[in-house]
Amino acid sequence: MARNIKAPRGNDIVCKNWRIEAIYRMLHNNLENAERPEDLIIYGGTGKAARNWECFDAIIKSLRELEPDETLLIQSGKPVGVFRTFENSPRVLICNSNLVGNWSNWEHFNALEARGLMMYGQMTAGSWCYIGTQGIIQGTYETFAALATKHFNGSLKGKFCLSGGMGGMSGAQPLSIKMAGGVALVVEVDPKRIQRRLDAGFCDYMTHDFHESMEMVKSAVQEKKAISIGLVGNCADVLPDMLAKGIIPDVVTDQTSAHDELNGYVPAGYWGGNLGDCDDFRKSDPKGYVEKSMKSMKIHCKAMVDMQKRGAVAFDYGNNLRGQAQKAGFADAFAYPGFVLAYVRPLFCEGRGPFRWIAQSGDPNDILATDKAIVEMFPENKLLMNWIELAEEYLPWEGLPARVCWLGYGERHKFAKHMNGMVRSGEIGPISITRDHLDSGSVASPYRETEGMMDGTDAIADWPMLNALLNCASGADMVALHNGGGVGIGLSQHSGMIVVCDGSKETDERIERVFKSDPGTGVMRHADAGYELAKKTAREKGVKIPMLS
Ligand code: NAD
Repeated sequence: MARNIKAPRGNDIVCKNWRIEAIYRMLHNNLENAERPEDLIIYGGTGKAARNWECFDAIIKSLRELEPDETLLIQSGKPVGVFRTFENSPRVLICNSNLVGNWSNWEHFNALEARGLMMYGQMTAGSWCYIGTQGIIQGTYETFAALATKHFNGSLKGKFCLSGGMGGMSGAQPLSIKMAGGVALVVEVDPKRIQRRLDAGFCDYMTHDFHESMEMVKSAVQEKKAISIGLVGNCADVLPDMLAKGIIPDVVTDQTSAHDELNGYVPAGYWGGNLGDCDDFRKSDPKGYVEKSMKSMKIHCKAMVDMQKRGAVAFDYGNNLRGQAQKAGFADAFAYPGFVLAYVRPLFCEGRGPFRWIAQSGDPNDILATDKAIVEMFPENKLLMNWIELAEEYLPWEGLPARVCWLGYGERHKFAKHMNGMVRSGEIGPISITRDHLDSGSVASPYRETEGMMDGTDAIADWPMLNALLNCASGADMVALHNGGGVGIGLSQHSGMIVVCDGSKETDERIERVFKSDPGTGVMRHADAGYELAKKTAREKGVKIPMLS
């Protein structure tokens, strides 16, 4: 029987303290927001929260029984041990999808997963930090806003932005583009996914008709009206068709689950009514499916490069479409840059990244109170002011109420401590603070966050490991170390964390340490690579780096 998992709300707890209870609620919240909860699949192709239902139940039981000085260990979605540590130690430590370098590929992973020995944790799925589509929305919005500044005098008004995918994370694209003033057309094979974004307020219209979608785009561009449209179609069919008709968007990107050629990407010829046939094809002939999928990604990526050649601004949106197309024999796949290289790296140099907080009470007023506090605390941060206003106007609540904001080194610990004070005074209920693994100091991903590092250190994975170790030493409540998120097994190494504001004085101290350490590793990593902005940030903010030149 299908389970309907929701995060517990309110003041009564079933675990031994709030630091454990909040992690317990975050895991439930992952499933409440999941794309395919019945399979424990949260988002990003097959990113899961637990290996199977037996493991899920064992995790729940372990968390309920966990003592305040014990630490639970999770190996690829399975609880494997409980050890006595310190009250200030992490309560949960997670490692997902990690394989020794030579074996770190989908083939080996899939064989182990089929035997029930591993799980794909994506980034925030297996580390229980997923908060729904809103989790990525500020990052997506800031990326399109930065693109507008770089290429279109600061505004996407009247600009046609084309992308693919409307799943867990990709579903943030239509609303983000609209918030940045543009006209969004997002191609998605599955009408149910588009309907879900319509219901949640992330997208305005759905159509199955290509011509209708083009008419809507044309008139919105002429009227400079910000709208978002989901077109039921397959990118590998629609983009070449657009090129043939001479239709070139102003901006083109993609966020289909291209990182996974078997269980993520849907090959050309399949969309809407024949998706059932596609599933049959995948099951009956996985090898044939992968071949067709790779061929389709080559066509899809080539169409993006051709659009770029004819004037579109093209960028990769962190799903490894370029890598897959190159593997399939398209030599020019890396003709357009990744989004971090093109727009985000300067933010990383200042230790900025997606800081998120979640109201464990379930009460949206807790988040609205924190919105008010953050606006009062950082009036000089114009991007933040603008974002909070937009977020309150446009963003629906998804699961436990949450907010995401890109905060930098210096801002994070101040705001986190302030929130802990609000919890202590009883103004709000307990809050979990987390972030995406896509952050300044927590990822090595040569096709994404660390693409084109100025010293060529794109593939060095020591940095996210140091980040995870330091977060443990600093007293985060949960620390996770994963392989393969975003771009696929073997192509990235990254870490995540949760700190729970339970209102205690001890938590003030933990916050001070973790929220300096965590973004500090980002400043350190970029300063070490030679970025002047990171060196300047380190000097000005007092991040101690022994060999800073
Ligand atoms: P998801 O699996 O929930 O959604 C992907 C969507 O793409 C699905 O709805 C699927 O039906 C659709 N799709 C697959 N093939 C298609 C095709 N050929 N044409 C049109 N639609 C197609 O995944 P998600 O969470 O939305 O993540 C999407 C991708 O983005 C993943 O590769 C993920 O790793 C990556 N990602 C990037 C970032 C970032 O910040 N850039 C963040 C999270 C995830």
